[in-house]
Amino acid sequence: MKNKIAMDKPVVEMDGDEMTRVMWAWVKEKLLEPYIDLKTEYYDLHVINRDKTDDKVTFQAAEAVKKWGVGIKCATITPNAERVKEFNLKKEWPSPNGTIRKILDGTVFRSPIPVKIVKPAVRFWNKPIVVARHAFGDIYDGVGLRFDEPGTAEIIYRSVSGKEIKVNYPKFNGPGMLQGVYNIDKSIEGFARASFRYAIMNKLDLWFATKDTISKVYDARFKEIFNQIYEKEFKEEFAKNNISYNYFLIDDAVARVVRSEGGYVWACKNYDGDVFSDMVSTAYVGTLALMTSELFSPEGYYLSEAAHGTVQKHYYKYIKGEKVSSNPTALIYAWTRGLKRRGEIDGNKELVEFSETLEKAVIKTIEDEKIMTQDVARIAEIKDAKVVYSEEFIDAVQKTLNKLIAK
Ligand code: NAP
Ligand code: MG
Repeated sequence: MKNKIAMDKPVVEMDGDEMTRVMWAWVKEKLLEPYIDLKTEYYDLHVINRDKTDDKVTFQAAEAVKKWGVGIKCATITPNAERVKEFNLKKEWPSPNGTIRKILDGTVFRSPIPVKIVKPAVRFWNKPIVVARHAFGDIYDGVGLRFDEPGTAEIIYRSVSGKEIKVNYPKFNGPGMLQGVYNIDKSIEGFARASFRYAIMNKLDLWFATKDTISKVYDARFKEIFNQIYEKEFKEEFAKNNISYNYFLIDDAVARVVRSEGGYVWACKNYDGDVFSDMVSTAYVGTLALMTSELFSPEGYYLSEAAHGTVQKHYYKYIKGEKVSSNPTALIYAWTRGLKRRGEIDGNKELVEFSETLEKAVIKTIEDEKIMTQDVARIAEIKDAKVVYSEEFIDAVQKTLNKLIAK
């Protein structure tokens, strides 16, 4: 074996729960530590440790990402009442992803990991479609009320300096309900910059869509902010990279997505992103274990993770001694993307190359060796798939990786 690849600065490692915690350890032991002198600053986000530290560990982990720039996160349990009982927790701690996202103020980019033996449900798609979701405001932080008689309503904005702006709803002629939503320029600007940067980094066109013809104040402001930032900060770099920025109406965008061949970033408002990221991922690869999920903050902080949860059902079988076929691909990609980012920031070419080779090894193992986990075999278009357990899959990837490195 050659010398291990050295790392200059650490990545922030956030360990997690259940089956993903088990696979996390295997990935490190078999696919990373034999090749890299792995430097990590470790935070244990195991639900019991979050409980023990009153969730402080989650905040410390997010702060550490601000210090080191790159974090890699395992899936974690978001406790509900059942989980509180199961682990005897002090309370229903909030979602670690929510906490971390709030601290880093990032945009999440989800992209399919295409493998040739899994055909997208939309037959034209042959390049990835990355959905970027603006995870702030709109209906997710809106207010609503129901009324039971005809009546009127208005929205009044009062500024700190005492200004007042007022708009009226149309008159209500019977019982009904109303809703008020908001967003903040600064958050939209961060979302826009993250989207433009991601497009440049990955040399992909950027699409953004709203319904500004109908929502003449709200959606129109999104469009305006995107346009201004593009013109001022990114137009030249887009031209240099031979990529384009395209604004559409959201219904037009949906139609275009379906008849496109892929190969772009689709930046979505909060609700659109919620809905279309699930639609695109299911139609593209059919399993969340073949998706990457990366968070970029306006300040350039970065976090990669798997798009799926802790695969609880498989874990319960696993601790009973049964072998399970959970797919570690998205976890492996969380590591490769994070290490690649570390390498790019630090100018560590070897680390970047290793990350790319490990991704190739995963794809080759599935496409050429036809070795895969149950979830992929279920949707693959081949008859002679070799279905293996999680650890066997990781071993097979290691074999392929060794062959690629020896070349
Ligand atoms: P999940 O862990 O994503 O699993 C749901 C189902 O999807 C599994 O039962 C399995 O289907 C399939 N699946 C997901 N990942 C897979 C993989 N790597 N390989 C093979 N199949 C996979 O969602 P959940 O069961 O609803 O949630 C479990 C826990 O995860 C919850 O406590 C939740 O709070 C947490 N969660 C965390 C995150 C995160 O940290 N980002 C995200 C979502 C959920 P089959 O059973 O049909 O094989
Ligand atoms: Mg959703």
